[in-house]
Amino acid sequence: MGRVALVTGGSRGIGAAIAVALQEAGHTVAATYGGNDEAAARFTDETGIATYKWSVADYDACKDGLARVEADLGPVEILVNNAGITRDAAFHKMTPDQWREVIDTNLSGVFNMTHPLWPGLRERGFGRIVTISSINGQKGQAGQANYAAAKAGDLGFTKALAQEGARKGITVNAICPGYIATEMVMAVPEKVREQIVAQIPVGRLGEPDEIARCVVFLVSDEAGFITGSTITANGGQYFI
Ligand code: NDP
Repeated sequence: MGRVALVTGGSRGIGAAIAVALQEAGHTVAATYGGNDEAAARFTDETGIATYKWSVADYDACKDGLARVEADLGPVEILVNNAGITRDAAFHKMTPDQWREVIDTNLSGVFNMTHPLWPGLRERGFGRIVTISSINGQKGQAGQANYAAAKAGDLGFTKALAQEGARKGITVNAICPGYIATEMVMAVPEKVREQIVAQIPVGRLGEPDEIARCVVFLVSDEAGFITGSTITANGGQYFI
């Protein structure tokens, strides 16, 4: 059954693959982005998927943005919290701004998007929320105290909210990707990337579409018994 889906950070990388896979699954999709207008325009041209610009770090902007999407496409029933950033630094060099920016986007951004949507999902008795966390929220990663804290927070949020939504037909789940071949990972120096790949048992980076397939399954009507769970998709790099 086709529903209205909103993917944050859907203009590039994993989010773009998720938006396209949801469209192919028959959903009507809106993709948001933070500021790269060129990438967003290119994405809309190539896919026909509408893009909307606002920062997930800004609560009021999320509320207004959601209202805009719903006026255009109808009530949003599927939310994929995918927008995310890194501001890596060894902890002794990490600035308060680096800490705040990552928490504001990767953790508070999930609250800011989910909170204004929640009452409508409860009223209508159906909802699917999927948050893209990270392997580094599960295992921690040197140089990413900010990112690991935010992504681990996303998992706690998911488990708590799953309990609140369970009787209202709302499922809340998370996906923890390992290293996926997107601009975020390709920005890492090649030597470091080679070291990363050497730690992945399947011997390669993941593809954005491999994460998108997990999302399509979790948001389907058939996945109604799966809530509060985390899908780990990391090529065998880490088990919990
Ligand atoms: P990219 O950097 O390729 O894309 C990030 C997307 O998020 C872009 O669309 C960007 O918009 C948007 N975005 C960033 N900040 C904001 C903001 N404040 N408000 C709204 N949109 C914003 O990232 P990836 O595709 O690599 O990552 C997607 C998600 O997956 C992230 O949450 C990341 O932490 C997670 N992840 C990624 C892994 C990887 O290996 N790539 C591994 C594990 C998790 P714009 O282009 O306009 O800035």
